[in-house]
Amino acid sequence: MTQVVLTSGTAQVAQMKEHYQSSLVANKNPYAAFTAKVAGVTITAYRSGKVMFQGPGAQAEAGRWQSAPSAAQSKKTAPKKKAVSKGKSNGIDTSKLPAGFSQWSVAGSDEVGNGSYFGPLVVAAVYADKENLAALKQLGVKDSKMLTDTQIRQLAPAIMKLVPYQKLVVTPEKYNQVQPRYNAVHMKVVLHNQALDLLLKKIAPTKPEAILVDQFTSPANYKKYLQAEPHKVTEKLYFVTKGEQYHLAVAAASILCRASFLEELEKASAEIGMTLPSGAGSKSDQIAARILQKGGLPLLTKYAKLHFANTEKAKKIAGV
Ligand code: MG
Repeated sequence: MTQVVLTSGTAQVAQMKEHYQSSLVANKNPYAAFTAKVAGVTITAYRSGKVMFQGPGAQAEAGRWQSAPSAAQSKKTAPKKKAVSKGKSNGIDTSKLPAGFSQWSVAGSDEVGNGSYFGPLVVAAVYADKENLAALKQLGVKDSKMLTDTQIRQLAPAIMKLVPYQKLVVTPEKYNQVQPRYNAVHMKVVLHNQALDLLLKKIAPTKPEAILVDQFTSPANYKKYLQAEPHKVTEKLYFVTKGEQYHLAVAAASILCRASFLEELEKASAEIGMTLPSGAGSKSDQIAARILQKGGLPLLTKYAKLHFANTEKAKKIAGV
């Protein structure tokens, strides 16, 4: 198993906790600041400032933080970073992008909701023509982990007015139907590909100079899962982790996803009359238990991703 340890400092740990807020899981260890699970990686941050990334995608996920933009932290609190990589490399190719890439006309894609028990999985693709880059920047489009939820929800409608986009929202109910046949990575490959394919059809005959997927698996794995898809987007396709820092198309896609996820969670909360939390912590177990008591699994399947461990915990709490 790949394991990467960063000595991040408490300021960056706080920043990470915010970044992973939709993927937090319970951790009773008194020395742990938080634990989060994202696409095959378990992230445990300690109060000491040490952060451990474990699992097949550990290298790539830790990489998000090894060269975080200096604007994200004040100089005074800039953490010391030291990576200790154990085990064999997982083969993820964080291949370099061509020079000047950030100024190209690019279609970019990202997703949100994969690590949250309640709420949908949202994937979005945005086409940012080079002519629109200045306007996107002017709007305030940037790395969504540097934006508040309120800012994200204000930005999303402005982005949708300015640039072509394609959003796909997989409701928990749909997700639960598909999940037994598709693992999380497979599902994301299908959705990113579908969003990009539909976006390319929308902008045709215009063609982007490149397509950038915010990397969540190795390119080889991506291509493997793509094989069964009828419309494969593979031309001029690039993958990079922290994609939102490399092109505004991915940054904008990430904002559309997050805004849509928050909106769906709010709608679902209003519908069921309970505040559905994002993430996958103990609060999610408690709310799920109340939903089970109200309407059993047929009701819970409309709101939660049932394969998460939270379901079993909720059943115990609810005594069902
Ligand atoms: Mg992403």
